[in-house]
Amino acid sequence: MKQYLVKPETKVKLSKFDPNDTGDFKTGDFKDGKEEGLIQLDKLNGKLEELQELLFAEHKHKVLIVLQAMDAGGKDGTIRRVFDSVNPAGVRVASFKAPTAEELDHDYLWRIHKQAPGKGEMVIFNRSHYEDVLVVRVHNYVQPEVWKKRFDQINEFERMLAESGTTILKFYLHIDMDEQKERLQARLDDPTKRWKFRLGDLEERKLWSNYMEAFEDVLSKTSTDHAPWYVIPANRKWFRDLAISTVLVDTLEGLKMKYPESEENLDGVVIE
Ligand code: ATP
Ligand code: MG
Repeated sequence: MKQYLVKPETKVKLSKFDPNDTGDFKTGDFKDGKEEGLIQLDKLNGKLEELQELLFAEHKHKVLIVLQAMDAGGKDGTIRRVFDSVNPAGVRVASFKAPTAEELDHDYLWRIHKQAPGKGEMVIFNRSHYEDVLVVRVHNYVQPEVWKKRFDQINEFERMLAESGTTILKFYLHIDMDEQKERLQARLDDPTKRWKFRLGDLEERKLWSNYMEAFEDVLSKTSTDHAPWYVIPANRKWFRDLAISTVLVDTLEGLKMKYPESEENLDGVVIE
């Protein structure tokens, strides 16, 4: 999955990333990529379950997963599918909506820092501090001189989290306008999904190219060794989930976690 990693200080052009990409899982004459991909995803679900248990038991590392995407980009679906098998007691989702009056009275990282993971915890950010250089920029909620400073501030904030034992992974779910059209239409047409539709989403859709420019800046300026971004092809939901699960499992395996030592002298103990 290395091809989706944004190397630090490289200029990202999103038009160069194909949202339909399915990596090595092609649909061809001899194998069905999706079928194979879903088998792999099931295996990764199981591994993630074990790794999360280990993370909790060891009580040493902290794990932060950041999800960003356009509307209907699939953040909710990703959370549902990637963390399918994980013990619900072991993960926490923090969703960041438009800030409240109290949040606006503070600096933009105030509400974010409060939700950061503690030892043994895995936290998923559904939207994040990156909204403060995305929606905030696109809508001119603050002056450019204010948001432009935030890239450095965010890098330093994430560096501090990393130096305090946090493993940070950031995923941009890359869909195109056609896919968004289909998904928004599906929300409208399906009575069980309609509640998710907001007329405001159509206004945001008109600003697509502004958002792409803002995302390109985010990816170019804030992918670091301590908090890398991945551009995940996300038109195919199964491949999106597979790619994210793979990165997550590989990263957690790289932490070389161990179960803690038990109390001494337990060998001969028999429960009566
Ligand atoms: P879905 O993608 O399924 O529609 P959602 O994450 O968009 O879910 P909503 O309640 O529809 O959830 O939208 C949350 C809104 O909050 C988004 O429009 C987002 O841009 C906005 N938001 C989040 N953070 C900020 C921020 N710091 N400043 C302004 N708006 C923000
Ligand atoms: Mg929305």
